[in-house]
Amino acid sequence: MTNNRETIVAQATAIGRGSVGIIRVSGPNSKQIAQLITKKDLKPRHATYLPFYTNEDQVLDYGLAIFFPNPHSFTGEDVIEFQGHGGQVVLQALQEYIVSTGLARYAQPGEFSQQAFLNNKLDLVQAEAIADLINATSLQAAKGAINSLQGAFSDKVTSIVNDLIHLRTYLEAGMDFPDEEIDILADSFVQERLYSLQNKLQDIKESAHQGKILRDGISAVIVGKPNAGKSSLLNALSGEESAIVTEIAGTTRDTLKEFIQIDGLPLHIIDTAGLRDTEDKVELIGIERAYKAMEKADVVIVVSESNDFSQEISLLPESIFEKDIPKILITNKIDQQNLSPWFDKNNNIYNIGLSAQTLSGIEYLKSALKEIIGYNNSSEGTIIARQRHIQAISEALEYFNNASFYMRQGVSPELIADDLRMAQQKLSEITGKFTADDLLTKIFSTFCIGK
Ligand code: GDP
Repeated sequence: MTNNRETIVAQATAIGRGSVGIIRVSGPNSKQIAQLITKKDLKPRHATYLPFYTNEDQVLDYGLAIFFPNPHSFTGEDVIEFQGHGGQVVLQALQEYIVSTGLARYAQPGEFSQQAFLNNKLDLVQAEAIADLINATSLQAAKGAINSLQGAFSDKVTSIVNDLIHLRTYLEAGMDFPDEEIDILADSFVQERLYSLQNKLQDIKESAHQGKILRDGISAVIVGKPNAGKSSLLNALSGEESAIVTEIAGTTRDTLKEFIQIDGLPLHIIDTAGLRDTEDKVELIGIERAYKAMEKADVVIVVSESNDFSQEISLLPESIFEKDIPKILITNKIDQQNLSPWFDKNNNIYNIGLSAQTLSGIEYLKSALKEIIGYNNSSEGTIIARQRHIQAISEALEYFNNASFYMRQGVSPELIADDLRMAQQKLSEITGKFTADDLLTKIFSTFCIGK
C-alpha cells in the first residue's frame, strides 16, 4: 500500500512433490534477483531454459525463467517466475537464497492478489473469485468462479452504481437549482429509476444467494437409528458424481461431518448417530458440540424404516423447532414393502418415501433439498459470491427502500439523496472501491500463501 514496496517471494505451486514447482517474485527488485540467479538479461515474457545459480555460483537447478516487466504482470509490478523441478528441498533453497540476499522477503498469504488489486489489475470480487476457483469443490462452483473472475458479478454491480450516480446527479442538480422548479418528489423519472434499480438489485441479490450456496454449500443434520439407511442414503444422494464421504479436517473429533454433492450443490452433513442420553463427561461435550452445529443447520433430514419419527425427533435441539428449520422425514426401504415412492409437503415439513437401495424416490429428496434453499443448478450466468457481498447488497437495498419510502411520503429530497449516497457506498464496498484497509487485509489473509 506504500510506494516503497518491498519485493516478495513465495512458492506459487502447492507444497509437496510435483514434476514442476514455481517460485514467484514480485516487486521492484525482481529484475535484480532475476539477474543474480540466471546471470542473464532475460527477454520480457519469454521462457528461457537455464541454470538457476545460488551463492558461490552453485547450480541449484535447471528450469525456465520468465520475466514480466511492470505493468504487464499479474501483480502489476515487475515479476520473475522460476519454474524448476518440483522438489521441496530445491524450491525451499531457492527461496531461502532470494531472501538471504536482502532483496526480498517472504510473502504474506494473498499478498500477490492484494498487490494485483492495489494496482487495479483486479477488483475485489475478482480477487476473491481466484481464491474461490482454487478452492472450488464442484464444476458448477468453478464455473461460477470463472464467471466472477471474468467480471460477470462486478459488471452487474458497476452497472447499478453507474445508474445510481446518474440518478444522484439528477437529484442533486434539482436540489442545487430549486428555481428551475423540478419537483423532485413528484418527478416520475426519479420514481421509475428508483424502482428499476431496486428490481435490478433484487435480481443480483438472488444471483449472489445462489453463488454463496455454490461456494459454501448448505448444512444438513441427519438423524436416524442405526441401520435406518443413513449412509446408504448419502451414497445414493451423491451418486457417481462424487462419493466424497469423508470426515472434514478441522471439525471436532466428536461431531462427525460428511460432505457430499448433489448436482453441484455442496451439502455438509452433520451425522447425529452418536446422540444419546449419557452421563459420560467427554461424550456430553461431544453432544454439546453437535447441538451447536445443528442449531446452524439449513435443513434436518430424519431417516426411518417406518412412518414413525417421534424418537428421532426427540433427539433434536429445541432451537430447530423454534427457528422452524425445514425438516424432511424419510421413510426408507420402501422396496422391502413393495411400496411406490411418495412426496408430500406441509408447511416446512416434507414427507418422502424412498429406497436408498433401488434409488426409487431419490429424485424427490433432491428436489426437496433444492427447493428448501432455492437452488437452481443451471450454470448459465452463475456467479460465485460470499456472505459479505450479500450483506452489502442487503444493506444497499435497505437504503433504496428508505429512499422509496421518503419519495412516497413526500419527505425532503436531501434525505433521499443521502440514502442513495449510502447505497452507492455499500455497493462500492463489494468491488473494493470503498473498502476499509482492515477489511481488505482480512479478506486477503484468508488466501493461501503464494496466491
Ligand atoms: P445406517 O446405519 O443408518 O448408516 O444404515 P446403512 O446405510 O448402513 O444401512 C443399513 C442396512 O440397510 C444395510 O444393509 C443396507 O444395505 C440396508 N439398506 C439401506 N437402505 C436400504 C433400502 O432402501 N432398501 C433395502 N432393502 N435395504 C436398505
